[in-house]
Amino acid sequence: MTPVLLVLNAGSSSLKFQVFILGDGEEPQRIFRGLFEGLREAPHLRIRDRTGTTVADEDFGSDGAFGHEDALLHVAAWMRAHSGGFELVAVGHRIVHGGMTYCEPVRVTAEVLEALERLVPLAPLHQPHNLEPIRIFRRRFPDLPQVACFDTAFHAGQPEIARLFALPHAMMEGGVRRYGFHGLSYAYIASVLPAYDPALAAGRVVVAHLGNGASLCALNRGASVATTMGFSALDGLPMGTRCGSLDAGIVFYMLREMKLGPDEAERMLYTQSGLLGVSGISNDMRTLRRVAAREPDARRAIDLFVYRIGRELGSLVAALGGIDALIFTAGIGENDAATRAEVLRGAAWAGFELDDAANASGGPRVTRGPGPTAWVIPTDEELMIARATRAVLSRPRSSRPQPAL
Ligand code: ADP
Repeated sequence: MTPVLLVLNAGSSSLKFQVFILGDGEEPQRIFRGLFEGLREAPHLRIRDRTGTTVADEDFGSDGAFGHEDALLHVAAWMRAHSGGFELVAVGHRIVHGGMTYCEPVRVTAEVLEALERLVPLAPLHQPHNLEPIRIFRRRFPDLPQVACFDTAFHAGQPEIARLFALPHAMMEGGVRRYGFHGLSYAYIASVLPAYDPALAAGRVVVAHLGNGASLCALNRGASVATTMGFSALDGLPMGTRCGSLDAGIVFYMLREMKLGPDEAERMLYTQSGLLGVSGISNDMRTLRRVAAREPDARRAIDLFVYRIGRELGSLVAALGGIDALIFTAGIGENDAATRAEVLRGAAWAGFELDDAANASGGPRVTRGPGPTAWVIPTDEELMIARATRAVLSRPRSSRPQPAL
């Protein structure tokens, strides 16, 4: 039997998963990518193999009963039926928050799960959904090893000054500090930088993870030294539906003057703001680009997104004391040449010289000249989880923790 890993990224109504052959070579080998959408509404499953061919495309009725547990059991059964000869040896989970304790991937035990549940107040919209599959697998397959990989972990080694808010010290002691997110993406990019240019791995690099969620991270010699997201995944850049950095006074205004309850205010900041809120049209960059020429509100949303990236970039360049390279990644960063061009033109002050032709064709290098370079590098958070899961499995159970991812 060929041993395989299941990598899971669970959201409120979706379940993304990938299957990797464990392998004894350098990297786990991806064999399937799957997505369950519309859980508890109109569940739909699509699975593709490594050639991109769809190997499963199913609906699961819309009576609202089919939830995460059914989806996970279906995936497990599908793997047994369709992957004859493959044995599931472990599950790696993307977990948004590791708090102050978990600075590296960890094998899940009852104690670990309890500790991760205590972090729910720090990420109430994501952590509960990330943890649910762990509980389900523990109940259904108690002997199956599970590994938690954290979006916060990569930032754990940042200098303390980068992690502080100017709040009373006791709040920081209580966990109110900058954690940063998208760490699995940044860890992956840091791991492949040498393959693009060995000098980058030793240099001052800003990575722009621009997807539905968006943040920037400053890397010095491959280590995170500052990032735009803070205590929650709401901070920093405007995103698809999230507002990004906000004057805290606006929250009091929403509560006192607008008479919004905390849940309503939270919903507005997380789900009705960002590109969607400003444009009133869509959270999807492709849609906004399509209509921007005739819809000033779409244009304004894009302009604000690019402007904020430029401002935050300047702040990270200051934190790094200069910049050698800017990396674009995730859905917008990898695919939207117009956003890359606008950001780089705005950053001409730092010496970036856009190479239009290279940018239009997707790079990987999209600048020319003697100044800092800019690159398009596709991210791969799932591979990072598969690597980490394999590494944790191969550790003796009692061994001391390894350095953070
Ligand atoms: P998530 O954070 O959900 O993983 P992604 O990294 O998939 O998000 O990014 C989604 C964003 O990428 C959306 O705004 C989408 O419009 C944008 N995007 C994807 N493909 C393209 C494209 N070809 N051109 C412009 N934007 C794109």
